Amino acid sequence: MSPEQIDFRAEGDDAWYSATVELDGDVLRLKYCDFSEKHDQILKAGDFKSLSEIELFEDRFRPASVQAQDSECSKVLEGDVVCASSTFENDDLRFYDALVDGVEYHEHARKQGEEEECLCTFILYWLHGPKAGNLTATTIGQICQIQPSGQIDPKVASFLKLARERFLVNGSPALISKGNGSPNMQHKKRFLQCLKQTGYFQYEVFYFLSKKKPVFVNLINETT
Ligand SMILES: [Zn+2]
Repeated sequence: MSPEQIDFRAEGDDAWYSATVELDGDVLRLKYCDFSEKHDQILKAGDFKSLSEIELFEDRFRPASVQAQDSECSKVLEGDVVCASSTFENDDLRFYDALVDGVEYHEHARKQGEEEECLCTFILYWLHGPKAGNLTATTIGQICQIQPSGQIDPKVASFLKLARERFLVNGSPALISKGNGSPNMQHKKRFLQCLKQTGYFQYEVFYFLSKKKPVFVNLINETT
């Protein structure tokens, strides 16, 4: 059985790549699909400098996104966050997340004996990467649907557990910085954590700040 593919957001260009992982003791080998072994990334559980660094690393993983099919284009809706490909410098095809800003639905082409062809146009608002903040028109072929985060890959989970153990004493963080203990701060942290769990909180703030009224910012101020 071939190892399960996951999506990994690379540190260099912040683009999403299909990858598989291998865990050997406390060493995680990240293998980029369609790239040679020399691009493999080797990570040691002991290399992380803080719990927050581990958390940022964890955020780089998610289940593999699924290519949207021509016949199912009506499932891609305005307001959805999708993972989309685009060509960047040197005709490089890379994947970044984008918000579907609008959809122009058109009747699909149906040739006898062939699958239907989607002729709709999707307007994407890029959330990160070289086109961040820009709108582009694209077709269904460039769109992948992001899968619910759900469970993290078991090998990645084991690796993160090992990495976190260094920073934990009796199951609690070994280092607690001053000032974080106030109830107000705790409340704020919990609230932000809750928003974060709903997914794309940062993207939404970014999107609304740049395009519409900063509704999320008001929301945060009211609760502090
Ligand atoms: Zn269509």
